[in-house]
Formats: sequence, structure tokens, C-alpha cells
Amino acid sequence: MPIGFHTSIAGGIDKSVQRVVGAGCDTMQFFCHSPRMWKIKMPEDKVIESFREKREQAGLWPVVVHTSYLINLSTPDDELYDKSSTLFDFELELCERLGVDYMVTHPGSHQGRGIEFAASRITKAFKRAREKAKGDHVQILIENTAGGGTQTGRELSDIKDIIESATQLNIGLCFDTCHGFAKGYSFEGSGEKSDEKSKASPLPATIEAQIGLKHLKLIHLNDSKGEFGSKVDRHEHIGKGKIGKESLRAFLNHPKIIGIPLILETPENDEGTDQTNLKTVRSMLSTNSKQRKR
Ligand SMILES: [Zn+2]
Ligand SMILES: [Zn+2]
Repeated sequence: MPIGFHTSIAGGIDKSVQRVVGAGCDTMQFFCHSPRMWKIKMPEDKVIESFREKREQAGLWPVVVHTSYLINLSTPDDELYDKSSTLFDFELELCERLGVDYMVTHPGSHQGRGIEFAASRITKAFKRAREKAKGDHVQILIENTAGGGTQTGRELSDIKDIIESATQLNIGLCFDTCHGFAKGYSFEGSGEKSDEKSKASPLPATIEAQIGLKHLKLIHLNDSKGEFGSKVDRHEHIGKGKIGKESLRAFLNHPKIIGIPLILETPENDEGTDQTNLKTVRSMLSTNSKQRKR
């Protein structure tokens, strides 16, 4: 099961590879530029080339980019939509050039206009970006949200609607465990003991019913600071939050989940780091799930 974490690209995109390989990652995620700025510059060819080489040598898979936080492709505000769509075009083009496998994006906020409106805005932007980017290697994944305000994608069934409204775009799902818990998708099995629980994680069945497990390509693995159903999007170290180790263990070792790549987006502070969280997750996986699959 490939495991990695979100890392910084300080010093250049190509420098990020050493950082994750040194920490023992099989996969990685990064922002391809500062995620809170509209301005973005294409890296030099030699940096892109160096990234591709290092990534190949390290055998990292999948390589994941998370799009900018500013992008809102569901918005009814035309100016914000145009800016978002332009930045999205640029990021997809850069991802194609870098040889990235998955580009994860938040579906934005529709300000009360509803999922049909949001889906048509989102897929229109995806289509344009696909036409502009040279290459079709990168798969776009939509991430589920914690569900505050008028966010698109709090219901997995909303993401299904978007995926099915444009099947030719081959859009996939990135499931964030913190967001799913905050939204109110249950992680608790019905078993009393921990080994019974591990057989009983109800979440894969929920994902199957709401959207279809075949669309699940990536998991953002985070514990949650917020309570169940709170709609609060605050990530916590694995096992130290409100989801807890046993429920996360049960989910990760479920036969339908084994093999799906995991990316940690956990905090770095006195209570833990990317490295300690990586170690915790490895210790939670059964031997079956440690095998890599691609
Ligand atoms: Zn996430
Ligand atoms: Zn989050």
C-alpha cells in the first residue's frame, strides 16, 4: 500500500523528492506553487526534467499535486470563476509536464446554486484545461469536503453526479478521512472487540453505495480535531483525534481499501511530525495491506 505525505517544494519542485525519499515515502503530494497566490510561474525546463528523473529513480507512485486553495470552479461569480479556471488550466499543464499521476482539487462553493449548477461549471473548466494541456496522463480527482457553508462535494453522491455528468473526463475520487468524519460518515463498526471492529468498518460500503468504490483512487489520511458531524475541517495526528486509531485501522485494513495509496496531511508540531505519523500508519497495517499495488 503506497504511503506518503504532503511535502513542501521549498528550494524547487525537484528538491522535494529527496525530502520524501529520505523519510521513507512510496508516494508524495505537493502544491505546485504557493497555494494562496494567483500568480504562478512555469518552472524552468531543467527543474522539470530533474524532477522527472529523480522521481523515476526513487520509484515514487503515485505523484500527487493538490491544486491551489484559491480555485473555486463552482462559484456563480464570473470573475472568480474565470480566474479559477485560468489557474486550473495552468496547474494541469504543469502537472502534465511534471508527469504527475493525480491532481486533487476541491470542488469549490456554489453559494446555494446547487449541485447541477456546480457540476456544469466544474466539468466545463476541466474540459477546457484538458484541451489546453498537452498530454492526458494526469487524472483529476475531486476531494470530498467537510461540509461547511455551501461547499460542493460534502455528499459523496454530489461528486458522483459530477463524475457521471462527464464520463469522458475520467474524473476520480480522493477521499479525505477527516472531511468524511466531519461531514458525518460513520467509521464505527458494530463489533465489540478491536478485531471484530476491523471486519466491520462501515465506510467502504458507504462509499460504494454513494459513489462507487471503483472511483476511489486516493485517500487523504487524517485524524480529526473536530467532532463527528461537526463540519469542522481540522486535521489531527493519526490516532490522536476524534476518529481514533481503531476506526482508522479498521478502515485501512478493509479488503476493499487495501492497495489504495495513502497521503498524510497531518500537522507538524510538538505532538508529532510527518515521520512519526508515517510510522504510526505503517504499524497499523496488516501484512496483507503492506504489499504495493498499482
Ligand atoms: Zn485532504
Ligand atoms: Zn482538510
